[in-house]
Amino acid sequence: LARPNLQGLSPYVPGKPIEELARELDLNPADIVKLASNENPLGPSPKVLTAIEKELPELTRYPDGNGFILKQKLAEHYGVEPEQVTLGNGSNDILDLVAQAWLAPGLNAVFSQYAFAVYPIATTIAGAECRVVPAKDYGHDLEAMLQEIDENTRVVFVANPNNPTGTWFDVTSLEQFLAAVPEHVIVVLDEAYIEYAASSELPDGMKYLANYPNLIVTRTFSKAYGLAGLRVGYSISSAQIADVINRIREPFNVNSLALVAACAALEDEDYLFRSRQANEQGMEQLELGLNALGLRWINSKGNFIAVDFQQDASAINQALLERGVIVRPVAGYGMPNFLRVSIGTHEENARFLTVLKQILSDG
Ligand code: PMP
Repeated sequence: LARPNLQGLSPYVPGKPIEELARELDLNPADIVKLASNENPLGPSPKVLTAIEKELPELTRYPDGNGFILKQKLAEHYGVEPEQVTLGNGSNDILDLVAQAWLAPGLNAVFSQYAFAVYPIATTIAGAECRVVPAKDYGHDLEAMLQEIDENTRVVFVANPNNPTGTWFDVTSLEQFLAAVPEHVIVVLDEAYIEYAASSELPDGMKYLANYPNLIVTRTFSKAYGLAGLRVGYSISSAQIADVINRIREPFNVNSLALVAACAALEDEDYLFRSRQANEQGMEQLELGLNALGLRWINSKGNFIAVDFQQDASAINQALLERGVIVRPVAGYGMPNFLRVSIGTHEENARFLTVLKQILSDG
């Protein structure tokens, strides 16, 4: 019998894969547009492809279980010690490991309504209580989150920007929050989308590590670095926190192609610049297109936008699927009237807008 705390748990539902829809509709996969998983539409950096090709003959070997070179590079990049870096099979892995290490029955984790689906899943698997704090204007209400923290709280998850809403908090809000969180609580600052937010409106979590030994900043190569398929993410924290996670992670949690690819990606600043630029342009294209259709949306600093249809959006989602466009329903996040649309290439965004216009005018 599975543990009782797993009874009410549902599996994480990812965006529908292109191949699956292609088979259902008997379409060529190339004719399907997927804007559902916040993936980078540019494709991987050419430098990454070269690095992977070079690594292929080594595939009979285990990867470096400690990710020595990638940790060195990340440490240099952020001006921290390699002992402060933890590598994960996606940053998802790290979120999970934090929950396993610090949560247990009788303890709780605090996070916001409309936050990333992995926080409740990881917390529930660990047998701990989910303290879900009502959102404010779809974003994190950091003050209300502080109120929810008690002596049994061990973890508070905050995402900046947040998925699926794209909302964010500013420097002052983060500083006040960090100063007020008790020391016995680990703050997980999930910055999966931070590279898209080049503006100074968003705090850089890395700046606060020196002052807050209970802070762990998680980032990923899946989004702006365009490596979602390889599964590689990381956290920077105090060396003590990194040491605890290191004790419970799988020995080879990051594969060898991911390790070399991440090193190459980190060095390709031009690619990152182009990712950001393409995202800004695509975001504007979608915002303008949605405005022209009279639709409302949540202002987003990520590579996606949550569109408010002001009625249950499942029929619209279905109609989009039937026309070969995959976006992400967010009813599971408690947002049944919204669809989350990832920013694609100019052509993909245009196709989405055209198809959506047809659907809306067909009634
Ligand atoms: N955090 C947030 C807020 C996310 O949206 C995602 C991906 N959907 C992740 C973490 C995990 O991403 P990955 O495991 O690919 O690094």
